[in-house]
Amino acid sequence: MASSVQNNRVSSPGYCVCCRTCNMWCWRAFKWLPVLLIVSIITWSYYAYVIQLCIFTIESTVQQCIYLVLYHILLIMFAWSYWRTIFAEIKPIPETFKLPETELEKLLSAETEDVQRSILDNYAKDLPIVTRTMSGSVRYCNRCVLIKPDRAHHCSICARCVLKMDHHCPWVNNCVCFFNYKFFMLFLGYALLYCMFIMATCLPYFIKFWKMYQEYKYAHCDRLIEKGSVSKICMEMINGEFGAAASAGRYHIVFAFFVALMFAISLGSLFGYHCYLVINNRTTLDMLVSYRRLGSPTGQIINSMLKNLVYGNCSHYKNRT
Ligand SMILES: [Zn+2]
Ligand SMILES: [Zn+2]
Repeated sequence: MASSVQNNRVSSPGYCVCCRTCNMWCWRAFKWLPVLLIVSIITWSYYAYVIQLCIFTIESTVQQCIYLVLYHILLIMFAWSYWRTIFAEIKPIPETFKLPETELEKLLSAETEDVQRSILDNYAKDLPIVTRTMSGSVRYCNRCVLIKPDRAHHCSICARCVLKMDHHCPWVNNCVCFFNYKFFMLFLGYALLYCMFIMATCLPYFIKFWKMYQEYKYAHCDRLIEKGSVSKICMEMINGEFGAAASAGRYHIVFAFFVALMFAISLGSLFGYHCYLVINNRTTLDMLVSYRRLGSPTGQIINSMLKNLVYGNCSHYKNRT
């Protein structure tokens, strides 16, 4: 039987260094786009809330101060936890798990999978490893040339093995893992509180503007329609006047309410799911692997997702981990 452990450290021929560098920088810049989107939304929400709601709309100074203090506390905590999740230092797998050159040479020259398995088993016998593949073999990463510690997985986006990997999150452009999971949970929690606070404080003004719009529409349009005027021209006039520059701030507040509602729903479900994982001492990948082992149609879909997203072309054991 042919050996299935490959030497992935050999660079692919026919691919110029210049193109590779260019591709690498483009890919790096592309990965920051979701983070840039989140930062833009936060910046706009600051303008809508602080300038349009607190300064231009709320009349009571006491109410303004309370709202501004609470808002800034939540914003600072949210931004701090987001920053720590993005820029957390993801430390490499300890050197003891790396395969020495001599063992690697033996592994690459082995002719059967059974021989490879025994080489890995022999090297891993002194390592603190409990998790094995479904066939009982040691989990090995071809790319990083190391024996994977328990709960470590290879991230194909970061191109490295990561300890206690939960998932790779494009919104933080980083792996959520052992080194930043706490900050990720804080980020979800504070982001949810931030959205709920904006929703709760914008809601009375959202209702007020809606009532104003209805009253304005009735006063200037519905009566004209009752008298037989053309409704389309009438509505254009109302929309034009109600949406004039002087009242544009209302739209920022109404839009802020809807955006906060949308994010609160998605963050709430994600935060709830991760609370469930923490309580049960599980990770997202643990759950995916459990589903995968069920062999159901859902498991098959997850299986292909895992192959592409997490394992990449990592190990000959990838189908069995
Ligand atoms: Zn790896
Ligand atoms: Zn990653």
